[in-house]
Amino acid sequence: LYNMVQDLKGNIRVYCRIRPIFNDETKTVIDHIGDDGSLVVVDPLKPQKDKRKIFQFNHVFGPNATQYDVFRETQPLVRSVMDGYNVCIFAYGQTGSGKTHTMCGPGGSANELGINCLAINDLFQLSNERKDIIEYRIQIRSCASDDGLVLPNATMCPVKSTTDVINLMKLGEGNRAVGSTAINNQSSRSHSVLTIHVHGEDVSRNILQSCFHLVDLAGSERVDKSEVTGDGLKEAQYINKSLACLGDVIAALAQKNSHIPYRNSKLTLLLQNALGGNAKTLMFAHVNPEGDSFGETMSTLKFAQRVSTV
Ligand code: ADP
Ligand code: MG
Repeated sequence: LYNMVQDLKGNIRVYCRIRPIFNDETKTVIDHIGDDGSLVVVDPLKPQKDKRKIFQFNHVFGPNATQYDVFRETQPLVRSVMDGYNVCIFAYGQTGSGKTHTMCGPGGSANELGINCLAINDLFQLSNERKDIIEYRIQIRSCASDDGLVLPNATMCPVKSTTDVINLMKLGEGNRAVGSTAINNQSSRSHSVLTIHVHGEDVSRNILQSCFHLVDLAGSERVDKSEVTGDGLKEAQYINKSLACLGDVIAALAQKNSHIPYRNSKLTLLLQNALGGNAKTLMFAHVNPEGDSFGETMSTLKFAQRVSTV
């Protein structure tokens, strides 16, 4: 049933999420947010009408959208994992645009939980609702990677509850490489991948197996802006390359090309089984609406538009 609803929308979708502005003095780049997934942005330095840029996505969440609003639009996709579909959810955007906020939540209170906790909670709930007809096993793997280099301690753990998962994620977070850049001291220059493996067996011994990747991607900002040098620069270039490869793969899938360039980066190789085929892919393009991010915002939106099928 969840899948029927999903099929109508296709296998690749792009949602845009715009975070609030924190500085009252700052002008916004957001001109209009439509209910139909349209978004109009404008450079506050060139506010002429003909300079406005129009984008179209599957959905746009404005600065007032809650974590739950975002989850509600994502839930059917999450639930199709329990029907045997592979699913991949990415958070894309420049550092400080709200990727971690969406995927993991800001921490603290329970109504701020991120998609990862809300989704996993939901999977457990569904597993419980169906326990008389299907016996599910849920396993989880958390890893950080630069260009998909999986950490050696990324072992598979069976989990029984959301608490198990939260503990596991804290462990993963500790392993994540955090580099200090001019933009954001906490900027993570690695991709963080949380993978949930679901195994189900129904009363007639039919087996279903699926995997679900939740990916908090490294910041998409241009290297020169973050003023990284040396090893950091090299790492940033690798990461930009893997983000570009990810874009190429999703764009090739969206255009139904016969050749999909999975092998061009370790990130896309890692996620290959959940990209393409019957798998469902959702990208959250994150936007910092502040005026001086206009350039980065445009490059995020162009990237997102390129991988979008709408
Ligand atoms: P990123 O992971 O893309 O670098 P973060 O998720 O860390 O960005 O967000 C940067 C800051 O903005 C954090 O303090 C975060 O809590 C805040 N923030 C991001 N998105 C939202 C939102 N939708 N509502 C409120 N605060 C947000
Ligand atoms: Mg982050």
